[in-house]
Order: sequence, then structure tokens, then C-alpha cells
Amino acid sequence: MATKQKGSSNGVKQVEAPANGAPQLEIRNPVTQELIGYVPIHNAEEVRAAAERARAAQPAWEARSAKERAYMLRCWGDLLWQKRAELMRIIRSETGKNETGAFLEVYGVHTAALWLYHNAPRILRPQNRMPLIPVIQRAKVYFKPHGVVGCITPWNYPLYNGFIDLIPALVAGNSIVVKPSELSPFTTQFCVDLMVQAGIPKEVVQMVTGDGSTGAAVIDNVDYVSFTGSTATGRKVAERAAKRLIQYTLELGGKDPMIVLEDANLELAASGTIRSALENSGQACVSTERVYVTAPIYDKYIERLMFYARQIKIGAGDGFDVDMGSMTHEREVKRVEAHIKDAVEKGAELVYGGQRRPDLGPLFIEPTILTGVTHDMDVMREETFGPVIAIMKVKDADEAVRMANDSEYGLSGAIFTRNLARGEQLARMLRNGDIGINRTYAVAGSHALPWGGRKESGLGRRGGPEGLLRYVQPQSILIDTTIGAIPGLTLLDTLTFNTLLVLRVLRRYIPFL
Ligand code: NAD
Repeated sequence: MATKQKGSSNGVKQVEAPANGAPQLEIRNPVTQELIGYVPIHNAEEVRAAAERARAAQPAWEARSAKERAYMLRCWGDLLWQKRAELMRIIRSETGKNETGAFLEVYGVHTAALWLYHNAPRILRPQNRMPLIPVIQRAKVYFKPHGVVGCITPWNYPLYNGFIDLIPALVAGNSIVVKPSELSPFTTQFCVDLMVQAGIPKEVVQMVTGDGSTGAAVIDNVDYVSFTGSTATGRKVAERAAKRLIQYTLELGGKDPMIVLEDANLELAASGTIRSALENSGQACVSTERVYVTAPIYDKYIERLMFYARQIKIGAGDGFDVDMGSMTHEREVKRVEAHIKDAVEKGAELVYGGQRRPDLGPLFIEPTILTGVTHDMDVMREETFGPVIAIMKVKDADEAVRMANDSEYGLSGAIFTRNLARGEQLARMLRNGDIGINRTYAVAGSHALPWGGRKESGLGRRGGPEGLLRYVQPQSILIDTTIGAIPGLTLLDTLTFNTLLVLRVLRRYIPFL
């Protein structure tokens, strides 16, 4: 049956469904261009109804213990793992990524669920705190969920970047409205269906599909927004959420620097650069996009980098030995090409790659190495989000840190050095949310660690206790036993006044009081 096609601002095809004429999105495999399926573009009214269903289901979900909720999420994680072959196939069909990338998404979310299972009940447990007047009073802090959390997610890691934020929100007792990217809704659909199989009530996790208008409607109907996506959209999300005075976290774009010091193990640094810059064809918020190499080892580093670059296997095939897959969308490839062109026109040298590979698929582009870049070039200032390694020679570590900090972004970063103490010291001088020394991507995989951006890379943190506690509002309850209490109209009756004076003196010396 014929479908009518329309354009859309984000380049994803909208079509009118043959049955009822309602607008739908057409989802295609980026490698084969085969049609995967259609999803509806939910309008504001449909989103409101989904949020209402989630809101009605939330109190019963909150009434369960954190341990029970975390156990259900662990069961869900086990199901993900059991069904990983099918899940990886869906992820790869929507994104074009290689098998390694799809596996790591499943592994990352499964182990995040395990971390929450073991740690969330303890982190969310009510805490006893010191009241104004000890002994006579008791004080407790409870951690109450916000209510309905809206998760708006991107396409580059449709499983990881959606569920790494969604599952702590659930464990904290919130219900969810999730809006996946218009490019990759079926991964989310599969995982939400598995949640029902794991015993999570189906009203608790509502999925809506569509474009930016659907995302905007989510913000209008929830109590908290967890957004992962571009900095440009993040700003709109923040403005919309601010109008409603609801809290939000923003995981946004990055322009991550890597510093290679003269004492680095060059084999690890060169191969590590390739891995870090080309993961998911460079379509990772935490991929290395700028490399600063100190002068004494610059030539040797470039030689080793070229050695490893020549060994990269790209293609759409299966197997963990395929290092790089396809990019996901034509608009992304075009931006990568524009950055390469801009750099070369401004004097950079294209020393490797840079060409499309239509023989492999319509959206393949070769791993690309640019040298002699400067901070006047787009490739060093704007998020490239593609398989481009831009390298700059610097005099020493001080200059490297200065250049690394010369960016509007501040997500992750990396330093390669054999001097671990110096590496740590330099890392603390970088204005980024996290730094890996001699290893990248490990912070994102360490579930006890918070990560997220500074500057235009975002607000708030995911992961660790911090990533869980953003989904609750502390509620303090103070209980006065009324021992010694006398009726009175002043806050400073004689007994209280004298007690406070004594406590003031004691509090100078006793830290826990
Ligand atoms: P995007 O900003 O285009 O879209 C993200 C999501 O927001 C999608 O679901 C989209 O439909 C929705 N959206 C669009 N307009 C909206 C609006 N006005 N209101 C509400 N929602 C709206 O981003 P993308 O292209 O899907 O993802 C790539 C970007 O995400 C890159 O910049 C990347 O660096 C960033 N990212 C950041 C992290 C991180 O953890 N910091 C992780 C992954 C990706």
C-alpha cells in the first residue's frame, strides 16, 4: 500500500500511515536502507495521556521497597543478557554500528542494573541526621521520588544512553515516560517490553515516539526531565523545563581532548587514540575529538598512529574483529565532510582517510587523520561526531592543558603518560567532567562513578550515587520528643536559649554534633 512522504527538519522521513492518515516516522537500516518499520509521531494529547497513565501507576510503584524495585531491574537485566543476540541485532539494524559496540551497550546496561541492585537500596535508605537539639529531638531524611520522569534519548547508543538514565529513575520509585530518538525507537521498544516480562507493571514505563514536538510535550507533562542529546536541543529543553520549574539533567555534546605526554607508552597511546576516536564511528559524546601531542614524541606518535590506522577493519560484517561500522545518518556524514573540508582549506594536512566508502554502504566514511590543525578550524571547536582524529603538536604539558581547556565543551578527556601521579595532577587541571589516564571509556563503564559534562556539555551527573540521587527529593522530618517542652510564644524561651548557648560551645569542638 502506498504511503505519502513528507520532509522533516531532522532528515528523518515522515509518512502518512496508509490506515488512518496519522503521521508516522519511517525507520530504515542505515547500512542496507531497508525499511525496519514505522512508529507513530505521538502528539501532545497522546503524550499527556501517557504521562497520566504513568502518574496513576507511580504511587503503587513507590510503595514497593527499593530492594524489590532493584530486584525487578536485575531480573530485567538478566533478560537483556539472555536475549542479547536479538537485542544486538536490533541495535545494529537501527544504527549501523559494529558488533563490539552493540555488545558493549548490552553489557553496560546489564552491569548498571547489577550495580543498582547491590547499591541503590543502601543509597536510598532514610538517613538519621543531627537535629537542632540532640537527644530531645530526632531528625531523618527520606528520599522521595519526583513522580513521573521523562527520559528523552538520542540515537547513538539507543540502549545505553536511554536506559542508563531510565533504570535509576525507576529504582528510585519514579514512573517513566521515555521518548527515544526518531532514528532508533525499536531498541527502546524491545527493552520496555522486556521490563513487563520482568514483572514491572506496564503502566509504570510509558513509551512515546516521535520527533522534537513529542519530546517537547514530554517536558510539559512530567516532573523531572533526563535529557541526552545535542547541546542545541539541551538549551531548548532547559528553557522549557525552567518555565515549569521542574528539575532536569542534561547530558550534551562533547569535544573531548586527549593529551599524549613525552613519557607515554606510544603503542598504548596510538592504539588508544584510534579506539577512543573511532568507537561507534566517532558518534560518541565521549569520543576523542582533539589530540595534543608534546613535541619530543610527536613524529614517533604519528608514525605509530598511522601504523594502527592501516590495520583498522571497517565494514558491516559480524564479529568483534570489525573495528568500525557505518555512520547512522546522512546529515552526520555531511557534517564530518564539512569539518574535514574546512580544516584542509585552513591549512591542515589530511594524512589518512577522509573519503566515503560507498562500496561498504551509503554512510561509511574512512577513519580520518588530520595534522597541523589549529583552534581556528571547526574540527577543533565544534562537535564533529565522526571518525576524525585531529592532532596538534604542543610544546609541553602546560600548553597541552591550556589548549585542552580552550573549548566550550567539558565532557571527558584523556591523558597518556607513564607518570601516573603527574597524570592525575594534570587531570585535575582539566575542566572536564571526567578524565581517563591511559584508558578511555572506562569511566562510563564504571557504574560507581558519576559522569557528565561541565560547560556546554551539560548539567548534572549520571552514574554512581549522584546519578541515582538526582531522581529523588530529600524530605527532612524532625521529631521533637517534647521532653522538657513548655508552652510558650517565643522561639527563645529560657530553657531553649540556654540549651542553644551550651550547644554553640560544644559545636566548636565536637564535629558530629
Ligand atoms: P538531538 O538533540 O537531536 O536529539 C535528542 C533527543 O531530543 C531526540 O529524542 C529528539 O527527538 C529530542 N528532541 C529534539 N528536539 C527536541 C525539543 N525541542 N524538545 C525536546 N526533545 C527534543 O541529539 P541526537 O542527534 O539524537 O544525539 C546526538 C547528540 O547527543 C550529540 O551531540 C552527542 O554528543 C549527544 N550525546 C551526549 C551524551 C552524554 O552523555 N553527554 C551521550 C550521547 C549523546
